[in-house]
Amino acid sequence: MIDFNRPYLTGKELEYIHQAVKLRKISGNGEFTRKCQNFFEKRYGLIKCLLTTSCTDALEMCALLIGIKEGDEVIVPSYTFVSTANAFVLRGARIVFADSGSENPNVDAGQIENLITSRTKALVVVHYAGVACDMDKIMKIAEKYKLYVIEDNAQGIDSFYNGKPLGSIGHLGVFSFHETKNIISGEGGMLVINDKRFLEKAEIIWEKGTNRAAFFRGETDKYGWVDIGSSFLPSEIIAAFLYAQLENLQLIQEKRREIWNRYYHSLLPLEKSGLLGLPVIPEYSTNNAHMFYLVSRNAEERTSLIGFLRKRGIYAVFHYLSLHQSPYYRKLHDGRSLPMADRYSDCLVRLPLFFELTGKETDQITAAIKEFYKNRIKK
Ligand SMILES: *Cc1c(COP(=O)(O)O)cnc(C)c1O
Repeated sequence: MIDFNRPYLTGKELEYIHQAVKLRKISGNGEFTRKCQNFFEKRYGLIKCLLTTSCTDALEMCALLIGIKEGDEVIVPSYTFVSTANAFVLRGARIVFADSGSENPNVDAGQIENLITSRTKALVVVHYAGVACDMDKIMKIAEKYKLYVIEDNAQGIDSFYNGKPLGSIGHLGVFSFHETKNIISGEGGMLVINDKRFLEKAEIIWEKGTNRAAFFRGETDKYGWVDIGSSFLPSEIIAAFLYAQLENLQLIQEKRREIWNRYYHSLLPLEKSGLLGLPVIPEYSTNNAHMFYLVSRNAEERTSLIGFLRKRGIYAVFHYLSLHQSPYYRKLHDGRSLPMADRYSDCLVRLPLFFELTGKETDQITAAIKEFYKNRIKK
């Protein structure tokens, strides 16, 4: 059996958790939280990072930070995880869904401007599979219409757009450390504040609406309720686990890229024959090998392929029912058709990709895919 995902443990997780416990400070914003935040701030030159209990929480912090209220419009890609949109719906926003491009599932930046109205407040972009969106174009549009840009970089750790780290380009960026991502802490996430205007408010929202963080730095002699907020910080136990992962970032990324490249080169002949599509990585983006996917020709073929692999003990999966078609938002959507989002919803297949996947297993998977397509060449 080859699982779809297998969380990788670096070996130091329990040792660091033990250290955190021994320090007798296991609530949030302690030593390991600082270590993790510093890791990102130093490595990528970020102004401020705040660990959160999930990427979903970090997105909810974004909605609070930019002051989303009833009637505001937020432009969000339809082909994404629920949280990208839900965080803003919770604050009363109306979601205006954008379509994906034809090269890859990222938002088609060329279509964004048509969706802007006087009520538009923010653009949320998703760097799908860790591949950068066309950020120069997106930031230019945002400047022209004075909109906030939030990068949902849940999948894009250690990936770059023209040399700039993903998550550092918009006003705010968010990361996920869910166990399906490259670097994990079970559940976990992070908010990146790139616009200094949000620094103080972000800490207050993070600390349940109090100025506790400033108090512990000795910047104020008492702390209390100063704004709305929630409990967004993870415990030190989570941060300790995460730090053990971060120390191995380089190693993890290299291994994932190796697997990714092996898939890519093995499946390239099938793409050349027009049997399936492979990921397209634009020149301006790096590849952090978060995901390996292929795009089948139609939904029926995808179902057959996943079934075919399953019979051989290989767990391939699909994901993202485009959100404009979702049971919750379908009735609220403005009715525009989003053909590319639907295409990825119908045709995208994710192959197993995790640190411990061996070259032999990777070859076994691509051999099975080739076997599947052997009988389908004439179609
Ligand atoms: C994983 C993911 C999320 C949610 O992350 P959590 O940490 O599980 O809350 C949000 N957006 C995208 C694009 C994701 O891939």
